[in-house]
Amino acid sequence: MEKQMQLLWELQKIDAGLDEIRDAQESFAPKLDNIKEDIALLKGAEEEYQGELAAKEVERRDLRDKVEQLKGLIAQSKEKIAHIANNKEYFAVLKELEHNQRQLEKQEIELAGLVEEINSIKEQIAENDKEIAAKADEMAIEEKAISAKVATLERKIRAGEKGRKAKTKDLDQVFLRRYQRIRRRFKDAVVIARNGTCLGCNVNVPPQVYIDLLKGQEMMSCPNCQRIMVNRSEDEK
Ligand SMILES: [Zn+2]
Repeated sequence: MEKQMQLLWELQKIDAGLDEIRDAQESFAPKLDNIKEDIALLKGAEEEYQGELAAKEVERRDLRDKVEQLKGLIAQSKEKIAHIANNKEYFAVLKELEHNQRQLEKQEIELAGLVEEINSIKEQIAENDKEIAAKADEMAIEEKAISAKVATLERKIRAGEKGRKAKTKDLDQVFLRRYQRIRRRFKDAVVIARNGTCLGCNVNVPPQVYIDLLKGQEMMSCPNCQRIMVNRSEDEK
């Protein structure tokens, strides 16, 4: 019985170690997910900027065409005016010329504003690209670090599982099943009982139960919390 309890105690230590390693392994995923999310957001912004830019470029082309057209009309009017003899016609062409000149001035201001907007969008895109590159770098570094850590953890898990197998081989299968059942509720399925108290739940066990435990002839569970009690002197957790 003592040997069996010792095996259970050691098995619990291995299982606790394995739990810790698996928790560490699982903690890596959210970190990478966060970076991935950031990159996705930046790429979404990039698409919006590009769409905006394309629309503005179309606007700019149209405006440029209009400006060129006006310039042509103005040149035509100037040409005409030089050869006009009659006053009435002269004023009509002059009126048209002035109108077109005012239009041209307006369109050129608008065009300048549009060029400024386009440049500002291009700056935002460049800024965004820089951020995406930085995040991609961060991701690469993080992935490299994590994959090294994960490889180490996987080695430890394999070693732990091997050790576990060795322990369970010699363990009474009824005990093992009981241990596993309790462990679903309490990670410390096997606890020390000392001075008549179960150190799992800190409740005193009935004297007869404690006496039986000290005799060490059968597996004793704490009547309060159901954990398997062991009689150990050393201060192990
Ligand atoms: Zn207890």
